Amino acid sequence: MRGARKRISCPEKDIAALQKKPVPPRPVSTDFVEIAPAAAVAVAQHGWRAKCLQRLVRLDLPVPRTVALPAGTVRALAAGQAVDAAGILARTGALVSVRPSPVNPEWGGPGSVLNVGMNAARHAEIRKTHGAAAADALYLRFVHSYATHVARLDPDAFALDPEPGALGHALTLYQEETDEPFPQDPARQLAEVLRSMARAWEGTSARLLRQAKGAPPDAALGLLVQEMAFGIGPGLSGSGTIQFVDGVTGSPRITGRFRGQAQGRAASVETLYLTRDPRGASLEEAAPQIFAELVAHGAACRARLREEMQIEFVVESGKLRVIDALKVTRSARAGVRIAVSLAQDGVISREDAILRVEPRALSELLHYQVDPRAPRERIGRGIAASPGAATGRIVFTAAAAQAAAARDEPCILVRRETGPEDIRGMHAAHGVLTERGGITSHAAVIARGLGLPCIVGASGIVLDQRERTLRAEDGRLLREGDTITIDGSNGEVLLGAAEMLAPALDDGFRTLLRWADNVRDIGVRANADTPDDARTARLFEAEGIGLCRTEHMFFDEDRLTVMREMIFADTSRDRRIALERLLPMQRADFLALFDIMAGQPVCIRLFDPPLHEFLPHDREGMRELAEALDRPLSEVTRRVEALSEFNPMLGMRGVRLGITMPEIYDMQARAIFEATVEAGRRGAPVVPEIMIPLVSASREVELVKTRIDAVAGAVRTEQKAQFAYRLGVMVETPRAALRAGEIAQHAAFLSFGTNDLTQMAYGLSRDDAGRFMGSYVMQQVYAEDPFHVLDVEGVGELLLIGAGRGREGRPDVTLSVCGEHGGNPESIAFCRAAGFDYVSCSPFRVPVARLAAAHFALLDRPTS
Ligand code: PEP
Ligand code: MG
Repeated sequence: MRGARKRISCPEKDIAALQKKPVPPRPVSTDFVEIAPAAAVAVAQHGWRAKCLQRLVRLDLPVPRTVALPAGTVRALAAGQAVDAAGILARTGALVSVRPSPVNPEWGGPGSVLNVGMNAARHAEIRKTHGAAAADALYLRFVHSYATHVARLDPDAFALDPEPGALGHALTLYQEETDEPFPQDPARQLAEVLRSMARAWEGTSARLLRQAKGAPPDAALGLLVQEMAFGIGPGLSGSGTIQFVDGVTGSPRITGRFRGQAQGRAASVETLYLTRDPRGASLEEAAPQIFAELVAHGAACRARLREEMQIEFVVESGKLRVIDALKVTRSARAGVRIAVSLAQDGVISREDAILRVEPRALSELLHYQVDPRAPRERIGRGIAASPGAATGRIVFTAAAAQAAAARDEPCILVRRETGPEDIRGMHAAHGVLTERGGITSHAAVIARGLGLPCIVGASGIVLDQRERTLRAEDGRLLREGDTITIDGSNGEVLLGAAEMLAPALDDGFRTLLRWADNVRDIGVRANADTPDDARTARLFEAEGIGLCRTEHMFFDEDRLTVMREMIFADTSRDRRIALERLLPMQRADFLALFDIMAGQPVCIRLFDPPLHEFLPHDREGMRELAEALDRPLSEVTRRVEALSEFNPMLGMRGVRLGITMPEIYDMQARAIFEATVEAGRRGAPVVPEIMIPLVSASREVELVKTRIDAVAGAVRTEQKAQFAYRLGVMVETPRAALRAGEIAQHAAFLSFGTNDLTQMAYGLSRDDAGRFMGSYVMQQVYAEDPFHVLDVEGVGELLLIGAGRGREGRPDVTLSVCGEHGGNPESIAFCRAAGFDYVSCSPFRVPVARLAAAHFALLDRPTS
């Protein structure tokens, strides 16, 4: 019998039994509610749109009768259960629209279906009352929706243009394609439309789309069945939307359109402006009464729904109906302005205004723009996907972006398109440019979320990922490392570093942040190394500088040579002579910072990196150095080799340099104190803070402190001036955290350097982790990149131990975080809960940190 099919036996009597067995009737759900002021309508069950409509009904707006189906009913529908469609139509009338109502408007949902209930009989009736064209248009629209959404026929085959004969053609086509006439029973039509929408919600692509917007896997959908308001008919008829604020700026302005003889957002030949307009006719002039009603409804929504709403309305033969309303879609800037003006008008509290603005959204307001007056050399163009401009070196991979960030080198991540594996790289980049994609592609969505300037779909440029080149529109070839500027506000890719304008921060922004400052209970300082950084820190109202990395001051060409002379000095005396040349430059650096910060605290970290970083690494560089120092090349090469380390991050750096070559810290301390005296003489006294990096033993602090005290004493005597200063320690080795009690006895403050602390707690190189971080996060080895979001379980425990022991050792010790985590909202929550005094982050993250800190303070308030 090999190969023969086994016959499945089915005796005659079994078939008879099956045939006789009655098919159980499908259960019919009657779980729905008519939206009325007192009806039990809940967002969790019926969705946001149902709740919003109920609020409009309570405000007495002319909302057509509406029935809401809860999520349970919709789920049952998708699973094959029936719904009492006739019962619904008995409440709404026989001609209805069906709209989705998810719990969160961001989650989308299937498209609305209008004119459910249209059939031959109703068509004939409407023909009499509204004319043939209106009747055809209404019916045709429904046939189109039903054919494509319910019967799943090709939408292109069903015309939407109500040309003569189009309706007949659509009905015939429907019958040919489905082998049955177009259904005439409104209850059946409604049941099928509801089922198709319920199933569409369960579809894989809809699920993925909404999950990308934060919806949970079991996100619920409610459905609304609403009595149809025609926008077509005799007299003034049409549909439109109106809003009372500008969605980009948030300032008061009526915008929208009224489309005469049209339903939904369909095109119309009779479009009217809403307000008087020199370009054409307006609703305000054509129907002043209706316009006035709309304005009144808008004001009622604002006052009672406590929100700026966009109203969707229909005018049916001169009668206004409000069919829907939703929160005005707004830019981050408009979001701030709207929240502030609602609070200023007493509609919401200041606390509500603060909580309404997502801290990360602020970063969208903060970015640089390319100066429109400056020359620009355009090499490509794409879709402006996320605002702001950024300059950086081209990198072609996420790993390269992370490596650049670790070197503190701004970069632009250039990809064909991005995917989830690029997210870490996007975090690290200053801007993103993709060859493909549109406004909602991955790169665009993620970059907007991050407030990162981004251009997508720059199809005129050609990438060669393997060769690591980019061919510009005009054929020029750029390589990895070349500098470009992307203007995410207008989509232009520019060659080189364009001139930039600082962000324009409006009154709303400042007001909101001042309110935030009044409620937050943790300080926010900025990490600022240069006068420019310090000015940005002031602009964003940081409460001082929490970390000035002084080594960045030595990389200017003139200083680098002196620095190298100092490194090559054979004796302490020679080293001192070289440092004396650096002293006035350092003094000027610090004085500039003190001047800009005008009395606010400035925390200066003493020299931290390995000296090797200041030396050339190639032969050419060494030859030049030999020339500059007037020494033989062989000697220079030998010295450079001698200074190189197997593990420079764990080698001769930070306080270890301070102990073994104390002249460097002596010079820096002197520069700080002399600048302090000078600032005092200029009438802006300052109490400088001096921070010792990479401490791991309290004796290190003792030794450095003794020398710095001595320098302070000397400067006081020489200058005949008095000044105070605070000496603190950077806690960035695990041992410093564990020994914080002892260390704090010599330190007025402890500032946790969570970058190095993370590196050392994990044994994870800051500069190399980018290579595998994506894979680690994807496989959930780490929930997040710990260099980006503080690892509260491990590194966090070191922070808590360090803070606790530090306080025991010195109850008034000031505690702060100055690693990158200082600007991350989740990490701020941790520091705040641990009772830290302040966080310090890059200047551009200061506003986000201020607002996030206020959020946590408000959310932590006891509810009365
Ligand atoms: C740190 O280690 O957290 C820190 C702020 O210092 P740097 O990043 O300069 O090492
Ligand atoms: Mg460090």
